[in-house]
Amino acid sequence: MAKIRIYQLAKELGMKNEELLEVLDQMGVAYKSHASTLSEEDAEAVRELIKEQRGLEERLAEEERRKRLPRRPPVVVIMGHVDHGKTTLLDYLRKSRIAEKEAGGITQHVGAFEVKTPGGTVVFIDTPGHEAFTTIRQRGARVADIAVIVIAADDGVMPQTEEAIAHAKAAGAKLLFALNKMDLPQADPERVKRQLMERGFVPEEYGGEAILVPVSAKTGQGVGDLLDMILLLAELEDYRADPGAEPKGVILESKLDKQAGIVANMLVQEGTFRVGDHVVAGEVFGRIRAMMDAEGNQRKEAGPGSAVQVLGFQELPHAGDVVEWVPDLEAAKEIAEERREERRAEEEAEKERRPKTMADLLRALQEEGKKEVNLILRADTQGSLEAIQHILAREGTGEVEIHVLLAQVGAPTESDVLLAQTAGAAILAFGVNPPGSVRKKAEERGVLLKTFRIIYDLIDEVRSMVQGKREPKYKEEILGRAEVRAVFRLPTGKQVAGCMVTQGKLLRSAEVRLLRQGQEIWRGRMASLKRFKEDVREVAQGYECGLGLEGFDAFQEGDVVEAFQVVEVTA
Ligand code: GDP
Repeated sequence: MAKIRIYQLAKELGMKNEELLEVLDQMGVAYKSHASTLSEEDAEAVRELIKEQRGLEERLAEEERRKRLPRRPPVVVIMGHVDHGKTTLLDYLRKSRIAEKEAGGITQHVGAFEVKTPGGTVVFIDTPGHEAFTTIRQRGARVADIAVIVIAADDGVMPQTEEAIAHAKAAGAKLLFALNKMDLPQADPERVKRQLMERGFVPEEYGGEAILVPVSAKTGQGVGDLLDMILLLAELEDYRADPGAEPKGVILESKLDKQAGIVANMLVQEGTFRVGDHVVAGEVFGRIRAMMDAEGNQRKEAGPGSAVQVLGFQELPHAGDVVEWVPDLEAAKEIAEERREERRAEEEAEKERRPKTMADLLRALQEEGKKEVNLILRADTQGSLEAIQHILAREGTGEVEIHVLLAQVGAPTESDVLLAQTAGAAILAFGVNPPGSVRKKAEERGVLLKTFRIIYDLIDEVRSMVQGKREPKYKEEILGRAEVRAVFRLPTGKQVAGCMVTQGKLLRSAEVRLLRQGQEIWRGRMASLKRFKEDVREVAQGYECGLGLEGFDAFQEGDVVEAFQVVEVTA
């Protein structure tokens, strides 16, 4: 790069000569006049500095601009284990809202409702549970800012509580815990706190950040506090939206109404939709004919945070479809059609990719140089299965692909193990436990089978597989050794060996092998492990014990019994 004169650099950077000279003074660069030449390094340093300053200015300006936008209400979803009180809490909140209105006011189900308090407004998604939430999220939309995880204080953290937490976290929502049913005498909030702490959520009172609010959805006790905490959290997060931006919303639900035709409930997230606007939601287009809010009022316009019922879509949009504003009918049609075609092409390609027979499958898997992680997924519900697949879809890399060979609801089966073995796949189960026989078969065949109770742990497992392109491998880890010192025969004919544990320990539950002159002659499980006459679970080094093996009755003095466990070797 050639040397550059100061006035040339000023021109390049769009600055006045005097401005640049000032910068040079600050930097301690010597010059005679604006015609002086700068060294390459100095010129580059100036460019860097100016770039940095401008970036900072831009960010500050952006932050300033955002701060001038009006706040919007937080959008809250209520999740938790079945029967822990989600519906009751929603009912209470809905009633408290109506009570403030004139008696007899009609309400309209629009998919979400507002609760106004002196401290601000909160928007609640009107359906409990994570199934709805998951379908919405699957389409890429983010709906809720905050998830209230309801935990019945008499029942504690349950599998669906954990699932709800995982879903909410995955969606990037802030968590807030409502300890419900506090009116019951058997409510045990301390137990719930302990359970949450075990899962890494330390309550504020113990120096953590988890927000817990004791409530009773039945009596309403504490619900005011819950609203206050939601608003406090919202203030910290500083939710803002631009009513003047290009309008954007998300479909919460849609249905075909006998009288009104296609009815879609939409939450407005940005900008302001007006009657007459052309819109596209996923593959569906339309023109907003009418909008109605939860109070049953016709609305001419709907801004950020409003939930409205929309008439005017040509077909049923899906829950979770993002609603976009488009300038005219032509654009609306074209965008919807384009998306339809993209999806069709994607489906065709998918069909091509899908193996039709086992032989196809194997051929596909053996294709050379291909790095892939093959999975068989099992889960407790269709919802969690879909959520897992949805997240996994983003986890593959250019180098390593993730192939889900089978995704089914229910516990892993022996046939899964066979498929996994033939295809070199791992079986990952969420919220379901395989029967012992299936576990055993997997062990025998060297198939990785793992169960998870938290979706994110499962995802982490897949991530590490992708990273290391980890072939699941096993090795036997020796737990302990014992020497056979005497052999007895029981009246039943069964042999028992009197042993001395010479190394490590023998575990009753471990697998064992019998070594004779260093050669393995048998392997299997123990039939009994006793010290004196007592059945014991383990015997440590330096102690004597009596043991029998399942289906083996040919001990000799001097044999060695080795207890081991099969552990996975990580790359
Ligand atoms: P969901 O499955 O989470 O929606 O739970 P529901 O709201 O249907 O509540 C399940 C049961 O618990 C119902 O019988 C409710 O009346 C009851 N319930 C909910 N909240 C409370 C509460 O705060 N106190 C008491 N005592 N019962 C409650």
